Amino acid sequence: MDPRPLLVGSHPAADFLNTTVSTADGPVERLVDGRALLDWLVAVGLLEAPAAAAARARWPAADLDRVAAEARRLRERARRVLEDWRAGRALRPGRLLPLNALLERGSAHRALALRGGRWTLVERARLDAPAQLLVPVAQALAALLADEEPERVRSCAGAGCTLWFVDRTRSGRRRFCSAELCGNRARVAAYRQRHGRGG
Ligand SMILES: [Zn+2]
Repeated sequence: MDPRPLLVGSHPAADFLNTTVSTADGPVERLVDGRALLDWLVAVGLLEAPAAAAARARWPAADLDRVAAEARRLRERARRVLEDWRAGRALRPGRLLPLNALLERGSAHRALALRGGRWTLVERARLDAPAQLLVPVAQALAALLADEEPERVRSCAGAGCTLWFVDRTRSGRRRFCSAELCGNRARVAAYRQRHGRGG
């Protein structure tokens, strides 16, 4: 398994694009099946753990696997849209219709939940069908397009690294998915270049 951490995107939509990564051994797919999709949704905070457990108990694995396949297709479509968007290429409204169709599947209600010892009003998604598991993913993608500056949505500058992130730094100069991994590797490479191979 790729050693890079799962959540480096600083935005669930970027983390969604990062569920497949290219490595020296070829691409690694994290959304391999429905179970992996549910685990990822919980890890990234798009689904509460009890809801994921209920989904697992309620729907056949084959149905959840179909949603995972749809998630992988959505991811690659969204990647192309986001690449055009951040490159400043004009977006036709029609290209976002599939995303709006996913958002339409949603059905939510508000509920009180305890968060850090305080009552907080949260929005809770109603899950009547496995296909609704993609609604929070579509919401994250839509929020990225609506709320973030395209120039802050970048790919890692690390050699061979394809991970996306939203730059939340004040300076707006974040270059790497992770300072410990790609940032460190780039520093070592630059050092070697300055001091010769043996250094
Ligand atoms: Zn990287």
